[in-house]
Amino acid sequence: MQLVFASNNINKIKEIQSILNGSIQLLSLEDIGCYEDIPETADTIEGNAILKANYVTEKFGYDCFADDTGLEVHALNGEPGVYSARYAGEQRNADDNMNKLLDALSAKEDRSAQFKTVIALNLKGEQHLFTGIVKGEITLSKTGDHGFGYDPVFKPENYTETFAELAAEIKNKIGHRGKATQQLIDYLNSTK
Ligand code: IMP
Repeated sequence: MQLVFASNNINKIKEIQSILNGSIQLLSLEDIGCYEDIPETADTIEGNAILKANYVTEKFGYDCFADDTGLEVHALNGEPGVYSARYAGEQRNADDNMNKLLDALSAKEDRSAQFKTVIALNLKGEQHLFTGIVKGEITLSKTGDHGFGYDPVFKPENYTETFAELAAEIKNKIGHRGKATQQLIDYLNSTK
């Protein structure tokens, strides 16, 4: 069985392929000749994962899965959420995003937050959603230099270090993306 991962991240694709039952061959967007920017215009994380998976299935005719992730901060009513990548503006970077977040929380006592990854899978005419969540809190300042995005300001529950201080193996094991990916893999390995 062939299945497209609507991503250009070859490392992510290789990693998932190595855990999958050998009966499933993962294809990248490049493998199917999809070089366009897939629109991510939905206003929810679920919606964007679905948009991306449907784009590939409808335009290219492949079974496919796609993921989308956001950081949801309780005191900010779930923001930046689906807008996490461009919280401080379209042209801004991770540092700008974190600075904006720390400013927005400066007068708030509740610093609880969660990362959420949703994977949408289109398989044999059916759609399945897998959600991975890691709860934690936003620190008062940035610490650590591993990872990317908001990792230096996110401290997962039951840990004293931020995601940017923890080893990648720990982040992958307890993190949002790892949890959602594991659910996808368990499901795919249970189907033939
Ligand atoms: P994407 O859907 O995986 O592209 O993630 C959207 C945005 O969420 C990224 O640009 C980052 O700002 C943030 N983000 C996603 N995953 C992580 C993570 O594991 N750590 C920190 N930030 C993340």
